[in-house]
Amino acid sequence: MHTKPMTSETWATALRSLGRRVTRQRLAVLDAAHRHPHATAEVILETARTELPALTAASVYQVLGDLSEWGLLRKLETPDSPARYETRIGDNHHHVMCVRCGAVEDVSCVVGHAPCLTPAETAGMRIVTADVLFQGICSSCDAAEPDQHAASPSR
Ligand SMILES: [Zn+2]
Ligand SMILES: [Zn+2]
Ligand SMILES: [Zn+2]
Repeated sequence: MHTKPMTSETWATALRSLGRRVTRQRLAVLDAAHRHPHATAEVILETARTELPALTAASVYQVLGDLSEWGLLRKLETPDSPARYETRIGDNHHHVMCVRCGAVEDVSCVVGHAPCLTPAETAGMRIVTADVLFQGICSSCDAAEPDQHAASPSR
């Protein structure tokens, strides 16, 4: 888990260093994303609203888009789920997702830097990064239904 203490001042410094304005909305979204790694916009909205009750869904989406674009948040796309966000940025870590309940956890990059995988063919492109999503079954799902094997593709 993410134990590094992050304060409003840390986020404010990060925003200023990018030449961006420090707003209460941005601070609330960063704080919510930090407290709930891999949260969806919905969860971030809910969390940030405890601090800023007037916060709207539209402004949270706007802020999430801006912060992702500026590299303060990492946006994670997973199958069958809305995008998720996290404040653990810049370390090229990967994710493991439970195919039954959708739980997502971090896994360290095997190599430690991008790209950690090289395809046999690159269609002429210079490979910059490899986005790896491991899919599995978490221990609580496995305990609940141990006989069921990996979900077959439903689509
Ligand atoms: Zn699960
Ligand atoms: Zn992560
Ligand atoms: Zn890697």
